[in-house]
Amino acid sequence: MPSANNDTPILRFDTFTNTVNGKSVDTETTRCGINPATKKSNPPVPNATKQDLDDTVQAARTAFVKWSQSSIEERKTALIAFAEALKQQEEDFAKLLTMEQGKPLAAARAEVKDGYNWMFEMANLSLPDVVAEDNKVRKVTIRYTPLGVAAAIVPWNFPIHLACGKIAPAIMTGNTIIIKPSPFTPYCGLKLAELASHFFPPGVVQALSGDDNLGPWITAHPGIDKISFTGSTATGKKVMESASKTLKRITLELGGKDPAIICKDVDVQEVAPKITAAAFANSGQICLALKRIYIHESIYKEFRDAMVAHTKTLVIGNGAEPGVVLGPIQNSMQYKRVQGFFDDIEKDSLKVVVGGANDLSSPGYFITPTIIDNPRETSRIVHEEPFGPIVPIFPWLDEDEVVAQANNTKMGLGASVWSSNLEEAQRIGSRLEAGNVWINTHMVVDPNLPFSGHKESGIGSEWGITGLRSFCNVQTLMTMKA
Ligand code: NAD
Repeated sequence: MPSANNDTPILRFDTFTNTVNGKSVDTETTRCGINPATKKSNPPVPNATKQDLDDTVQAARTAFVKWSQSSIEERKTALIAFAEALKQQEEDFAKLLTMEQGKPLAAARAEVKDGYNWMFEMANLSLPDVVAEDNKVRKVTIRYTPLGVAAAIVPWNFPIHLACGKIAPAIMTGNTIIIKPSPFTPYCGLKLAELASHFFPPGVVQALSGDDNLGPWITAHPGIDKISFTGSTATGKKVMESASKTLKRITLELGGKDPAIICKDVDVQEVAPKITAAAFANSGQICLALKRIYIHESIYKEFRDAMVAHTKTLVIGNGAEPGVVLGPIQNSMQYKRVQGFFDDIEKDSLKVVVGGANDLSSPGYFITPTIIDNPRETSRIVHEEPFGPIVPIFPWLDEDEVVAQANNTKMGLGASVWSSNLEEAQRIGSRLEAGNVWINTHMVVDPNLPFSGHKESGIGSEWGITGLRSFCNVQTLMTMKA
């Protein structure tokens, strides 16, 4: 296998194939993604059939026999070389990401960085055997053994970062992995696997692009042992149902409805822009984006006005153009969904403090960042995840009440509390029902820390040592000595 330093493969970024058993493979038919900033077609990508999936699973199963026996050092060397090669082609991947996903180039570069940094960091993680007992009578060792063939089902909002965050733990634990990018954003996922094929034995890292049939075929396939899924809660439930037929292991990273609780003693001018950014980053298309903002009544107006002022500075446009902060919504289906929340403005007599209308004749799927002032509890924007740049704000006075409101959701992905009084913030934070709780920040994730959703935001966890375990079976090995 080449190392990234002396033999970095240079990829072409104008043709796209599946990667199966170490080779670039075409399919009988192709399909095209759409550039969301222009609504123009991107280049053709493969459209995998059931037979393509069978071939890929077979290659992954064959590769597993040897890869599962490889040493940690071997896995680490290959993963680091792959991460290094991705780093060297950061700019090409970033441009491709902007073209397919829409996010501004600076954000695309940051995502590629997250991708390789996740792999660099997770290359240092391992699950050594644990000796639970060793005496005259017996030795008992707890081992973490790889599951077999994993499939990574990836959404369209972070196609590189989330794929890398699944490849790294699968590889480090001795599994093989098949990447299935979203049909809306297949390009970067395909290139990742093509690049990986230079650093791993054939069949260890593969990718298949397909249409809406491919995901269900994967979750039903008897040759796949684990599904690492990131996407919506509705799809996650289907994945779980389908995977149950073969008792596949699953990790589900699903939707969110993250609250922020702003206490009365924050520095308004400093915190309001951070809160606004956490609501509108990636045009609101982040599972961890702030989706409900509770502001202490004593600073409500001042904080709201500071959020409005910051929102007005956000430049919307084609992510390939300099200075753009908010790109388009990624696809037409999502655009219509977000537009539905704008239709509610009139229907529910919602009070808009900034934004509120979209240019429906625009060349791309652009949505104006919008803040809704204190909507009624029954309004959809309070309970559903728009996954776009529209967010409600609410005043609060009583701590118990705001905690109850923040927890009044089926979701439990992230939550944050903002206060100069750390004791108060931690007290409130410890009462929030979410897998990730932050004090005076939001959305900070780390490859060394577990990431998981409570309630309908997910099952299991990814990243960190706990994430590694999710790609393993536990084995108790008992040796009798006497
Ligand atoms: P989605 O659920 O529509 O699709 C996700 C992936 O699942 C895609 O690859 C899709 O092709 C595939 N898929 C669709 N139907 C399937 C089926 N029946 N069986 C198997 N696979 C299937 O999600 P999306 O619209 O791409 O992403 C947005 C959602 O993802 C939001 O709800 C967001 O909150 C969530 N998300 C969660 C996290 C997290 O880590 N918790 C991160 C990013 C996005």
